[in-house]
Amino acid sequence: MIISMRPHATREEIDHVCERIREFGYKVHSIEGEERVVIGVVGIGDVTACLESLEATPGVERAVRISAPYKFVSKEFKKERTQMRVNGLEIGGEEFVVMAGPCSVESERQIMETAESVRKAGARILRGGAFKPRTSPYDFQGLELEGLKLLRKAKEATGLAIITEVMSDRDAEMVAEYADIMQVGARNMQNFALLKSLGKCGRPVLLKRGMSSTIKELLMSAEYLVAHGNSNVLLCERGIRTFETATRNTCDIAAVPVLNELTHLPVIVDPSHATGKRSLVPAVARAAVAIGADGLIVEAHPDPEKAISDGAQSLTLEQFSKLMQQLRPYIELWKESRQAETAGAVV
Ligand code: PEP
Ligand code: MN
Repeated sequence: MIISMRPHATREEIDHVCERIREFGYKVHSIEGEERVVIGVVGIGDVTACLESLEATPGVERAVRISAPYKFVSKEFKKERTQMRVNGLEIGGEEFVVMAGPCSVESERQIMETAESVRKAGARILRGGAFKPRTSPYDFQGLELEGLKLLRKAKEATGLAIITEVMSDRDAEMVAEYADIMQVGARNMQNFALLKSLGKCGRPVLLKRGMSSTIKELLMSAEYLVAHGNSNVLLCERGIRTFETATRNTCDIAAVPVLNELTHLPVIVDPSHATGKRSLVPAVARAAVAIGADGLIVEAHPDPEKAISDGAQSLTLEQFSKLMQQLRPYIELWKESRQAETAGAVV
């Protein structure tokens, strides 16, 4: 059950509602937003009696029963898509957002050249890892703070927003100083200490699906972020592990409409990690637009052959620019369908 208090409900009203909830034998999990307080009701008790009583309690705007285990991120709680503003760009709304850049920030020259080129091609957000989760401890671990500083330089030069990975709760504050969107990698999707700390980081979070995680587990991790105070969460399908070896991961493209049914959060597709092969990236990117994702995150590099990480799946800058041209008619159709949805023609 979730109780939305009216905007600017008084402290007495909020405390009274919490007291009533406890009297029914439940636990209270409240989120204090800037405008309103939302109270999550958890535990076992008489739902119907509690709902009826709370609906009539002063200060309460809405009390809803939610059957899904993930509460705040569920469609049952909120039907309208969650939209968030990042550097003047509305994500989750009527604009299809493309994030692009190298797997890792490697040098000033590499990130500046990439940023200029992907911006010209139409990307709005620059990706680049400064903290890299690598399978081998002997592989390049990222430029860390130096990498973050280079991303800032690229932002200043191009106006692109920055998305970069945060691997540890200890680095969250530092990364948040440089990033417009905090990326949680597949390997950290269930790092609950990290998720809790990002609840308070003040930046939107792109949560990548763990490589062996179900959609429900992805949503439960998103619930951690929201329950700890951050409702600006983007979900990312980046392929999962299956028996198939023809691709690096198996792109679960159907996860996009499944998520669109279950949650109000925007969904981003990563065709690079989902396939592991540059030749397959454009087809999966087109599929992502056609199936109703909110955006893409694509790896692109000035010289993929020499990339320190993920060269095989990185597009050249020319290939990225071609991809953006190829996507144009798909994005036009996407926009029409979003506008119709907003106008209420499609539900
Ligand atoms: C990345 O984006 O470079 C990355 C490491 O992705 P993932 O966490 O999906 O493997
Ligand atoms: Mn990568």
